[in-house]
Amino acid sequence: MKPNAHMLCLAVLAACAPAKPEVRASSSASGSTGIDLAGMDTSVAPGNDFYGYANGGWIKSHEIPPDRSSYGTGTMVQELTAKRTAELIAEAAKDAAPGSDARKIGDYYTTYLDEAAIAARGLAPLKPALERITGISDAHTLARALGTGLRADVDVLNNTNYDTDNLFGLWVAQDLSDPARYAAFLLQGGLGLPDRDYYLDASPRMAEVRDKYRAHIAAVFTLAGLTEPDARAARVFDLEHKIAEAHRPRIETEDVTKGNNHWTRSELAERAPGLDWQTFLAAAGLDRQAGFVIWQPAAFTAMAALVASQPLDAWKDWLTYHAIARRSDVLPQAFDDESFAFYGKALSGTQQKRERWKRAIDATSGALGQAVGRLYVARYFPASEKARVEAMVKNEIAAFARRIDRLDWMTPATKAKAKAKLAVLKVGIGYPDRWRDYAKLEVVPGDAYGNAERASLFDYRRNLDKLGQPVDRGEWVMNPQLVNAVNLPAMNALNFPAAILQPPFLDPNRPSVMDYGAAGSVIGHEISHSFDDQGALFDATGRLHNWWTPEDFAHFKASSAKLVAQYSAYHPFPDLAVNGQLTSSENIADVAGLAAAYDAYRMSHDGKEAPTVQGLTGDQQFFISFAQSWRRKAREQAVRRQVLTDGHAPAEYRGVTARNLDPWYTAFGVKPGDALYLAPADRVRVW
Ligand SMILES: [Zn+2]
Repeated sequence: MKPNAHMLCLAVLAACAPAKPEVRASSSASGSTGIDLAGMDTSVAPGNDFYGYANGGWIKSHEIPPDRSSYGTGTMVQELTAKRTAELIAEAAKDAAPGSDARKIGDYYTTYLDEAAIAARGLAPLKPALERITGISDAHTLARALGTGLRADVDVLNNTNYDTDNLFGLWVAQDLSDPARYAAFLLQGGLGLPDRDYYLDASPRMAEVRDKYRAHIAAVFTLAGLTEPDARAARVFDLEHKIAEAHRPRIETEDVTKGNNHWTRSELAERAPGLDWQTFLAAAGLDRQAGFVIWQPAAFTAMAALVASQPLDAWKDWLTYHAIARRSDVLPQAFDDESFAFYGKALSGTQQKRERWKRAIDATSGALGQAVGRLYVARYFPASEKARVEAMVKNEIAAFARRIDRLDWMTPATKAKAKAKLAVLKVGIGYPDRWRDYAKLEVVPGDAYGNAERASLFDYRRNLDKLGQPVDRGEWVMNPQLVNAVNLPAMNALNFPAAILQPPFLDPNRPSVMDYGAAGSVIGHEISHSFDDQGALFDATGRLHNWWTPEDFAHFKASSAKLVAQYSAYHPFPDLAVNGQLTSSENIADVAGLAAAYDAYRMSHDGKEAPTVQGLTGDQQFFISFAQSWRRKAREQAVRRQVLTDGHAPAEYRGVTARNLDPWYTAFGVKPGDALYLAPADRVRVW
């Protein structure tokens, strides 16, 4: 329901979808082979407008579909992948063997789609949950209900999701102080609106959202046939308002150096009194866990105090509202419509509910993501492609190591540490080494609500089971059918899902130099995140420990200052400039990634240029393939929103990253006086 924050992703799509991954949109997503010559505009001088030179033909001949705010390479690849995933799920629904993962996928999907069966069951599936809430009679039973609801639904570093509608959220991940073991991270939660600002901001726009939210809560109670819907809604809202006051601001939550607070079990009771922690943790299945990482200590103190100070009835209404609201998509249609009216229309401005079958695909991927991914990989990601990408990654890592050796600004001690970190980087290509085992997940045909509850509990228990086990650095945070890529800082690992390793990013039917320009620059981008200002916070083992000297940091900042100035000079509209500071980390990753990809391509050709193809020299193919992978058209509002809020610059500027690389000047004969020309001293070489 709520948008996620950002992560170290690729954002090939408009924004970093569920994580802060890095994806893009490009040319013909289906059968592209080679450079899209028709999509170029050779009447444009590459030195004046390289993006227009590579993409002008495509831009002139394509319109943004009416239901989208932008359209380009990433969107096209994503649409094709969604269509293929839907076909695979539909096939599984038809003829999979009983008990198999494919059968579970098919049953989950078909049951979710069966709105008549959902309507016929009415509120019956919710009854046991509502009765448990009605039975709460004191602090002890309240703590038990709160603990029973805990789920593994937050993540501070990888998929970066900071929100849960439960009181707290659990994240099981590598201990940032001792990465050989897993830690249990606990985060603040409990809000139905996206952030504390929605409750506390005094602007009329936010006041209006709050009025609509109160009305929405009352409408849900009315639909559920509960007495005094308005009084209940007021109690729920007032309680959430107090929780919002207890919350720490998002910017503080995003700061990993502030979140790594280790508390013992007894410290929870001492430092956050008010909640019966023993009962809470026992009900959550955490009774044997000796310590926790409390991400927002002040919020935990204040929220535990609210558990004691606020009326039991308010907590019971709050639990009731969320128990219904979070499952509205698998309850009778009136609940689903009410949820969309508030979260879709009022809160996000979306005009139309997505078609049920598309949501069924997403729900199935949410519950059985790796099982679906396994089907996807079996059909669309051959071992030969995995092997090709492995070879590319090997070359890029070697290229990166050489660049570290040649750096003039980094101290020898830090260089040695950088090389050590690079040597143990865990690169996941296409799909995880070991698939998730769904044997313990029961999917019951005809029970959409129960399936959703069981899937969420299955995922919670899977995470609890990790505690006390050796850390698995091969675990993936993205599904293979996602068009994106991500850097996992504490795991010192990268995930490149199979869905981004397809045309026009990667294509076995064209010269490999073009793959280096597109997929190769994505790989380089993610590698470089391990060595930027964020990457400097985590050492080779994933320990939160700054391994750079202050001198290294000063030099890095100086290099990035040049790039900040370069991007701040870009104006998508006369009154709006790109924020070079906000996009600094991502721009550095783009420059470093493209440079590493170029070196790796040359390395794979024994240092020589690739042969001329389609009338283009090897180096020209490399740079045009790169720029075409960034092709995108976007509506003005979308560009303005991106410039203000997104850590990634608009695609057209990412596509001209090439102006920082010397070979680009030779390849296209770019001269002083050309609009994109940079004097050699102004070309940024971070690595
Ligand atoms: Zn990035």
